[in-house]
Amino acid sequence: MHLKTALYLAIQRHPDQKAVIEGDKEYTYTQWGERIYRIANSLRRIGVKKGDKIAIALKNHEQTVTAMMAIQIIGGIAVMCNPKSISDRIKYFLKNSDAKGIIFEKDTAKVASSALKNSPKCRLHISIDTDDLTIDNTILFEKLVEDGNSEEPESQVKEDDVGIIIYTSGTTGEPKGVPITHKMTFHRAIANAISAGINKEDNHKVIGLMPLFHTIGIHGSFIFSILYDGTYFPVADFIPDDVISLIKKEKITHVFASPTHYHMILSSEKWEKESGECIKYAMYAGAPMETSLIEKCCKEITENLVHIYGSSEMYLMGCLQNCKKYPGAIKKTLFQNIRVIKFMGNPEDTVKYGEEGEVIADLRSPEAFSGYLNYKKTKTEKACKNGWFYTGDIARLERGPLIYVSGRSDDMIISGAENIHPAEVEDVLLMHPDVSEAAVIGVPDERWGEIVMAFIVSPKDSLKVEELDEFFKKNQKIENWKRPKKYRFVQTLPKNESGKLQRFILREMK
Ligand code: ATP
Repeated sequence: MHLKTALYLAIQRHPDQKAVIEGDKEYTYTQWGERIYRIANSLRRIGVKKGDKIAIALKNHEQTVTAMMAIQIIGGIAVMCNPKSISDRIKYFLKNSDAKGIIFEKDTAKVASSALKNSPKCRLHISIDTDDLTIDNTILFEKLVEDGNSEEPESQVKEDDVGIIIYTSGTTGEPKGVPITHKMTFHRAIANAISAGINKEDNHKVIGLMPLFHTIGIHGSFIFSILYDGTYFPVADFIPDDVISLIKKEKITHVFASPTHYHMILSSEKWEKESGECIKYAMYAGAPMETSLIEKCCKEITENLVHIYGSSEMYLMGCLQNCKKYPGAIKKTLFQNIRVIKFMGNPEDTVKYGEEGEVIADLRSPEAFSGYLNYKKTKTEKACKNGWFYTGDIARLERGPLIYVSGRSDDMIISGAENIHPAEVEDVLLMHPDVSEAAVIGVPDERWGEIVMAFIVSPKDSLKVEELDEFFKKNQKIENWKRPKKYRFVQTLPKNESGKLQRFILREMK
């Protein structure tokens, strides 16, 4: 199946059901379908052909998902760009993907304009909201809707055609483009629903907090919503108080968010015990969540908290429903096969229960990618060996089998030839009542090779290094030599839109 069929079927099943709501804009499946067809026909009229790439530099809006659908149903490829990117990054996305056009908004017009100066091939410029036409030949999105024919366009899109390009977060370097075919899209969205144990009967009201330039925001929230005849509520700017109001007003049933989103929602004064009564499922993904926050989410939002471990390349590698019982753990999912193997090992070198190693994922999965865009020879060959994708993530295997992902092997600190995981040190720091966030990195040291440096966010100005050091020494959970030798107090930790800690920024700050 491809997206065009999925949309057609959703319209037939529930023509009058609300498909997308953003503020006072509401579209039923019939109305939204018509809007998509109009845009699709207009794009075709102005020259977009099968295989053409159109970059989308938009926040989570109704137009973002409408454009993403319209481009794909005529066989085009939507290149999803982080709207908070600097112009050099947008330039890189345009060049790397060979985009023929770009869709932007007021907030991204400046970077788009600057990126376009060096991207002569990107000739189609579409704005969703600005008629300040500082960018040459800009066409307004609504004009395309107005001028487009509302008939379903004829097209020859096949399941194996690429429909979307997403970029990895760039946690370990430059973001890498991951082409997603229509077939992969469906396996991803279905795997998500089944592995998380979601019932078809529910009246799905899905809040779009995860960015639409990552697989989890696209497949986990948005495509999932269409497949289940849900209503999708895109959230362009994450303002916790507004999100809480929206959850209450619209009686949101499904939340897909990062640990940071949950932390910020639950820390808001506006959050009350009753606020989450309508929520049937809450899923977290993208980064580890502290045990205390898991407990808080289960208590104050829903017991149905689902932990998801995934990546742009493979999507849903692991999942655990009702994750309070085994905080931090995941199990294998429907369409995937993962293993924990010895570091630098072969796929057969699996670790024993209780041991740690690297997570690898079987490339035979229908959710799996088949190589990075334009990096077939270099980055792809490095990551994909013997039919397996090497994630670079460290995990411990336990009976169940349960897998506990703790972080990236690149982040491992090696002090005096011993390995120290950032997560084990951070967990201890977070037990201190005056520490709200903590992150550690390795910094060079003449004697030990590397020592641990901690970045601490504390609501109390009076918190002292000596107090933390004493707290660490008294703690029985971790060896004393692993304690941080350097501390720095900061206002916030650098994180990206998916809530991933950007340790490379901490390394620059040290
Ligand atoms: P890049 O490859 O450009 O460095 P990235 O790997 O962060 O970026 P993504 O595909 O967006 O790009 O993220 C996947 C990674 O996110 C995983 O490999 C893992 O390190 C981390 N991750 C995802 N979910 C979880 C989770 N539940 N717990 C711990 N880490 C997670």
